[in-house]
Amino acid sequence: MLEKTPFILVVDDEESMRDSCSKILKKDGFLADTAKDGYTGLEKIEKNKPDLVLIDLKMPGISGMEVLEKIKEIDPNIIPVVITGYSTVESAVEAMKRGAYDFLPKPFSPEELRIIIRRGLERRKLILEKKSLQKEKKLIEENFITMVSHQLRSPLVAIQQYFEVILAGMVGEVQEKPKEMILRSRSRLEGLLNLINDWLDVARLDSGQIVDNIEPLSLKKVIKKIIEDMRPLTQDDNISLELGSCSENDLVQGDKETLEQVFSNLITNAIRYNKPKGRVIITIKENKDFISAEVKDTGIGITKEQLPFIFDQFYRVKRGEDHKIKGTGLGLSIAKKIVDAHGGSIKASSELGKGSRFTVLLPKA
Ligand code: ADP
Repeated sequence: MLEKTPFILVVDDEESMRDSCSKILKKDGFLADTAKDGYTGLEKIEKNKPDLVLIDLKMPGISGMEVLEKIKEIDPNIIPVVITGYSTVESAVEAMKRGAYDFLPKPFSPEELRIIIRRGLERRKLILEKKSLQKEKKLIEENFITMVSHQLRSPLVAIQQYFEVILAGMVGEVQEKPKEMILRSRSRLEGLLNLINDWLDVARLDSGQIVDNIEPLSLKKVIKKIIEDMRPLTQDDNISLELGSCSENDLVQGDKETLEQVFSNLITNAIRYNKPKGRVIITIKENKDFISAEVKDTGIGITKEQLPFIFDQFYRVKRGEDHKIKGTGLGLSIAKKIVDAHGGSIKASSELGKGSRFTVLLPKA
């Protein structure tokens, strides 16, 4: 690949310094431009986006420090290197704190300038390469997600629809035996579709993205919505689903969409792994740095031996023949991934035959 000639801007109020730097840089094959003060420098940076900027810290008008701050806003990938006055270590340290990549103390030799420039450009190359790799990885992941959802889900959904048409008797009467087989196939198909959906959730869960969307949220509001969404699931087994005591402060730093998924997974489990006429109670408490939400059920519980594994991907608790609850073993691992990305934690306690308790801690807003 043909590499672009690096472009370097020298911002210095001293004419001799500008000229000598630009002469050396051009001689070495770089593109170089100069600016006589911070104001002109920033204009040129905004317009021409140099790869590296050499900035004199001490200039009349806009200071070198201010130029440094502004460069970060214009393009954080530009490498700023500061030129510091005679033995002013403090200002060099301050400049590094404000984002300068390196510093060049006056007076410096052409060779010293070359070393610093080479190092800075190498750094820039690494940053850009890393960014382009990240972009490529993201594209591959997105393509993969689209591929899975279209190529795998679509034919399965089509089969599901054919089954419905056959079962509804729309293509003639269906005998008992084939009907039973189709019903079983339909149920297996449903399991497969659930697995693909959960798996897509795992693939889509980008913790960086979760963190980007974090805002102050009322946890009570999030949970109330999920409780109402889940209400229909409670009907078959007559399960009572209620929001218990809630602390006055329920504000967390959270991403609404993924937190809804956490409580949807926990509450669905508390209903599915319950007993007829069982209870599910959700409470919210305020701790020192966290808001905690507890989902407690009076269900079948989990053995001490299996409890440590329930947050692992694809782990399903082995149960006797009489428990045929379908699942993918991904729900709790998804919930944990989301809570971790929030800087929170999730834990479970359980007693076999008596019930389970899932506690989620989320940082306070
Ligand atoms: P899935 O429910 O799809 O199997 P999960 O990751 O949601 O996957 O849960 C993992 C396992 O933990 C389940 O197989 C289930 O046996 C157990 N489990 C989860 N929640 C509860 C609960 N509230 N009560 C009893 N067992 C539970």
